[in-house]
Amino acid sequence: MPKIFQKSEAFFDTFERKPGFQKTTHYCPGCGHGTLNKIIADQVAELGIQDQTIYVGPVGCGVFIYYYFESASVSAAHGRASAVATGVSRSNPDGIVVSYQGDGDLAAIGTGNAIHAANRGENMIVFFVNNNLYGMTGGQLAPTTLLGQKTTTSPYGRSKSNDGFPLLVAEMIAGLEAPTLVARVGVNNPRNIRQAVKVIKRGLEIQRDKKGYVFIEVLSQCPTNWKKDPEQACEWIDDVVSKQYPIGVLKDLADEQGPQERPRKEADFAAVAKLLGLDAEEKTVDKELILPYEEMRFKFAGFGGQGVLSLGMMVAQMSMQYNLEVTWLPSYGPEMRGGVANSSVVAGKNPISTPVVDAPNVLVALNRPSLEKFGPLVPKDGLIIYNSSLIDQIPADLKGKVHALPATDLATAAGTAKAANVVVLGFIARLTGIFELAELEAFLRKTFNKPALLEINLKAVSSGWDAAGTI
Ligand code: SF4
Repeated sequence: MPKIFQKSEAFFDTFERKPGFQKTTHYCPGCGHGTLNKIIADQVAELGIQDQTIYVGPVGCGVFIYYYFESASVSAAHGRASAVATGVSRSNPDGIVVSYQGDGDLAAIGTGNAIHAANRGENMIVFFVNNNLYGMTGGQLAPTTLLGQKTTTSPYGRSKSNDGFPLLVAEMIAGLEAPTLVARVGVNNPRNIRQAVKVIKRGLEIQRDKKGYVFIEVLSQCPTNWKKDPEQACEWIDDVVSKQYPIGVLKDLADEQGPQERPRKEADFAAVAKLLGLDAEEKTVDKELILPYEEMRFKFAGFGGQGVLSLGMMVAQMSMQYNLEVTWLPSYGPEMRGGVANSSVVAGKNPISTPVVDAPNVLVALNRPSLEKFGPLVPKDGLIIYNSSLIDQIPADLKGKVHALPATDLATAAGTAKAANVVVLGFIARLTGIFELAELEAFLRKTFNKPALLEINLKAVSSGWDAAGTI
């Protein structure tokens, strides 16, 4: 079989997105994305740069590229791929960084990020997939929509008086001084695909040689939202789209340009910490903590307003004082208005691979929805502490060791129900054996400036500590 029809070596063998999709992509039949993915993968394989290549994926129809390309990959928030790619490129000077973005992503919400990355001449190659509309979300008007083109949000066609003119992004970027190569290609017919192969290969060679920024706009068919069959969609690029967006190389300085040196600078963490008043030497306690688990994975959950985020913050800050590696990850949003808010804390002596806590070994549930949501995720050797002042029923499917703590009642007795989180702090410190009561008190003295508040919180922490002593 000719190589062009074979699966590229730079693709995964199977695409494990979900059962039934192992062999095919998620793209619609006739979509230009698939052709572009194949060209990129073939050229990456041919240049032997697969191990160096790092893809930065967008939000949009290209979002799942990490299921296809067998290389490192990062997903960026909507419109931010060029900014993320900047960080990836600067921290991996030997990497070949590919930013893959659609027109809704790059030419609308991400315009600023894209233009400034280009203007800095970052070592990266940007693929800008232009299909004249927002594909993934159902075909809304994009900055690249043609005049007169009907979309779901321009049912009478794009008008220059209402929506402005189609944005010529490649021309804008070619007008900047820094970019090395700027081109527009098409993936709609064999002639255009052959030209696209050449341009993409040249762009990747520029990356291999560290010769700066490459921008390749790709006219790509979206039969689904154009409401055309794949053949008509390909013809429409020739007959209409390419008249607005002419195919060709707009700028190529690769032959006259040397490598763009961007040496990696090591951050001086000590200087930053000092600047922020967090210098470790001053605040570190000289004591080795004994942890009940190799890595402490806490989940603190409750209603917004119950102090679960600050409880996580307190545990994280205490852990940092003992020189542990620590992450703190809050989760809120609509939950702040009464649902389940939570914070995850990971603490340990080794570097932490992820701040996400899927299976907590210590769960604190301050309300019933939290216990029902996270309780079943705690493994058999984990601890579940629930607020028995507010929870009168516990789920039947809990595997971890369950402890009832009347946190709200104890906090109310100490002076305010709001101190329930500090009651919990005292309880888990003694239950897990991580911190001593005197250490908690010293921490609270530094945290609460107002004497009345401090007194309540000292009472609260000690009532939680005492409650754990009765177990
Ligand atoms: S919606 Fe359009 S761009 Fe998105 S996968 Fe389908 S054909 Fe391709």
